[in-house]
Amino acid sequence: MSDKTIVTLEKIVALCKRRGFVFPSAEIYSGLNGVYDFGPMGTLLKQNIKKLWLKNVKSFDEEVVLLDGSILGAPQVWTASGHVENFSDPMVDCLNCKKRFRADEFDLTKGCPFCSKKELTDVRQFKLMFETQVGAMADQTSIAYLRPETAQSIFINFKNVYSTTRVKFPFGIAQIGKAFRNEITPKQFLFRMREFEQMELEFFCKPEQTDKYFDIWVQRRKDFYISLGLTPEKIRLRPHEKDELSHYSKGCKDVEYNFPFGWKELEGIANRVDFDLSQHTKHSGKDLSVFDQETQQSFMPNVVECSVGVERLFLTLLFDAYHEDVVENETRISLKLNPKVAPITCAVLPLTKKVAESAENVYLDLKKAGYNVQYDLSGSIGKRYRRQDEVGTPVCFTFDFDSIEDQKVTARNRDTLQQERIPVDQLKNYLDNLLKE
Ligand code: ATP
Repeated sequence: MSDKTIVTLEKIVALCKRRGFVFPSAEIYSGLNGVYDFGPMGTLLKQNIKKLWLKNVKSFDEEVVLLDGSILGAPQVWTASGHVENFSDPMVDCLNCKKRFRADEFDLTKGCPFCSKKELTDVRQFKLMFETQVGAMADQTSIAYLRPETAQSIFINFKNVYSTTRVKFPFGIAQIGKAFRNEITPKQFLFRMREFEQMELEFFCKPEQTDKYFDIWVQRRKDFYISLGLTPEKIRLRPHEKDELSHYSKGCKDVEYNFPFGWKELEGIANRVDFDLSQHTKHSGKDLSVFDQETQQSFMPNVVECSVGVERLFLTLLFDAYHEDVVENETRISLKLNPKVAPITCAVLPLTKKVAESAENVYLDLKKAGYNVQYDLSGSIGKRYRRQDEVGTPVCFTFDFDSIEDQKVTARNRDTLQQERIPVDQLKNYLDNLLKE
């Protein structure tokens, strides 16, 4: 078995299509740019990502509670947050080749990055929020926005959550949900989409604690990615330069991953100070400060935000796990995903149809116990192993003629290809060990 991995975006896109991870949305109508549907494997992978993220952010000493805010947002929210005014990207068109692109991604003094002609329009600000109308009357008063981030639902509900849960400072509010951005150029597959899911934690603390918790969360977030199995050498932290900082932020660090197309942001961690709660206090007229019993004074909570896209992490995990090696003179593709992340934890494979019934009972038993398990009877055993390798299944249990006699199956490891006999009544233990942290 010799490793000869060269991973490219094209290979990942093809694998995602072939194995039911990701399909272009409305593909039978030639698709919708920047929008994707997730197939059976992709849905399971997304579920695991979200479950692990939530488990992680809730695993520390401080309390973290949940919120599920609406996607449609009142315009006042997005005016107060600064998005109506500031949430745009600089856009430029080439009058020669008609390409449209982000002006901040290229050196415009060299002309068009696609055809080199110096026939570019002026740079215009392109609004990234999707605007829609609510109700039967379509006028200025019926405007609503699809949220471009989940964070604002948390800020506008801060007082509701604080007063109904009696949480103590510092504490977090976590949310996983859809966000929409009319990106000028959606690209690199799941990296930059127009509809995506965010996992955001807004961590509220007293102003004097903000710098400390910013550092703490930066380290926790980096550790999380390593715990998922991402290659540590491909992860780095990059502080934002002063001129890069968003309008709301006092300091920001990105967790970056070394993608085949370069080091790029995987997650942003921002010190938002009291920007959001102060803005909503000002615009709504409702005081969002809290009273501190200890000091007998009111204060405006500060916020440390950790924000990552589910699909961006999905893509990162696939890039990191993708392997090609040569087994018996054939190229074998496998996803070396951490078992906790892998969409399927194990497959049960009867060696022949003659043992299918007994093998199916093993499968049903594991399925009913709640494991993500697949049963596959079609094709040679080699082909069935390959299919499981490509979706990252860490172990296959093969049921053969001896299994009927000795009630053992052969467990075949995805990464080492080693095989061992395991008693059927030990399979759940075996899987639990595999899924342990
Ligand atoms: P960029 O500078 O790349 O446009 P951003 O800094 O505006 O991104 P944030 O607002 O910090 O992005 O978003 C937080 C996280 O949400 C990002 O780190 C990324 O994981 C995810 N994300 C943002 N935009 C997209 C998108 N268009 N498609 C997929 N994921 C996204």
